Amino acid sequence: MENALLVTIVLDTENSIFKPEEEALEFKLLATSAGVNIKAEIICHRHKPTPNYYVGEGKILEIKNICQQHSITTVMFNNDLTPTQQRNIEEILEIKTIDRTQLILEIFARHARTPEGKMQVELAQLEYLLPRLLGKGIILSRLGGGIGTRGPGEQKLEVDRRRIKERISRLKQDLNKLRKRRDTTRKKRKEFSLPSVTFVGYTSAGKSTLFNALVGASQPVSNLLFTTLDPLSRAIILSNNQKIILSDTVGFIYNLPPHLIEAFKATLEEITEADILIHVLDVSDLKVEQRYRIVLDILKDLAVENKPIITALNKIDLLKDRGWLNKYKIDFPDSVEVSALTKENLNILLEMIEKRLQKMLTLVKLKIPLNRMDLVNLIYETSQILDIKYGQDSIKIKANLPIVTTYQLKGYIND
Ligand code: GDP
Ligand code: MG
Repeated sequence: MENALLVTIVLDTENSIFKPEEEALEFKLLATSAGVNIKAEIICHRHKPTPNYYVGEGKILEIKNICQQHSITTVMFNNDLTPTQQRNIEEILEIKTIDRTQLILEIFARHARTPEGKMQVELAQLEYLLPRLLGKGIILSRLGGGIGTRGPGEQKLEVDRRRIKERISRLKQDLNKLRKRRDTTRKKRKEFSLPSVTFVGYTSAGKSTLFNALVGASQPVSNLLFTTLDPLSRAIILSNNQKIILSDTVGFIYNLPPHLIEAFKATLEEITEADILIHVLDVSDLKVEQRYRIVLDILKDLAVENKPIITALNKIDLLKDRGWLNKYKIDFPDSVEVSALTKENLNILLEMIEKRLQKMLTLVKLKIPLNRMDLVNLIYETSQILDIKYGQDSIKIKANLPIVTTYQLKGYIND
């Protein structure tokens, strides 16, 4: 484990909606979720960055002092450093530095699941690394281990520049090929799955805690059936016996560096696959309304803002005055107040998921064999039939099916 000093440099020219301490806190949570042992943290102010060290040389010497006092092994900057700044800083500090982009990439690497997601993150990591391999010295020695050395799927990033360049062009080619095939694989995945419910929200809103609490509060589905699910998805059974898949996701991050957006989106593929999104909010956070809007903006970017969203007003156990909840329940539609920690109201959240799924309809075309009149009856009972044609060996039906029936009849979908 690395012993880290966290450094947040605030520029006077920046007009952020968050206070310096809030930005520093978010960075701390990001570092914690990457498994870093935080020994000390500082916030410093500057008018504008300098090309050599971002801050003044004196500040770097001050940081060096702190590092020696606390046996720091890594300095993490909550800012983006140019390769030159980073090299210069490491020359003085004589220990490893990590900047904001690198830390975020590390977290993405831990969350990337689909082949495409993994490739996209590896590509971003290599493109980040390449201009930093120009010099020799400490930057190269970081390949010893720890943050900044891990590719998705636990491979070590390659050291050699030529090999990195080859790998980058290979990844780009493969990503292009994958993209062309993506639509067909998507369709296939959907046919084999259950209705899916995916958590979204700001970093440290409590998504993972809520995910685990809901999995714990429901009847789990025998894992054997779902051996292909990745570690961050679980099949559970709702009280009406409906099986669904719950998925956790990487948190949204304020001020995501623009060049990381592709890699970020790739870690969020399951959002586009989801039938319902659960937007987890931390209601103990004073900036909850701003964060809510930031997340909705990102959902819009991902073109998923029209999916059904249930808002989980999490961490109500931390509210001193629950009167705020009345306001939040008006401000945030389709919301329910919960505590992932004390497990309060988890049953209500599960019920909302159940009801929402029952209400959802999908327009599908089906081809049912003549010997399955039971299925035709099921469609008559549950759905609005728009068109039905009896053929020689099958019945073709166009209908608005409840989404749960669609999953039941996935083998008969004809498009
Ligand atoms: P994520 O980044 O959205 O996955 O957030 P986590 O699930 O990792 O939670 C971030 C922090 O908030 C952890 O320290 C949790 O223990 C804490 N947390 C999550 N839910 C609750 C809650 O309902 N009440 C309280 N008091 N803390 C919570
Ligand atoms: Mg999490």
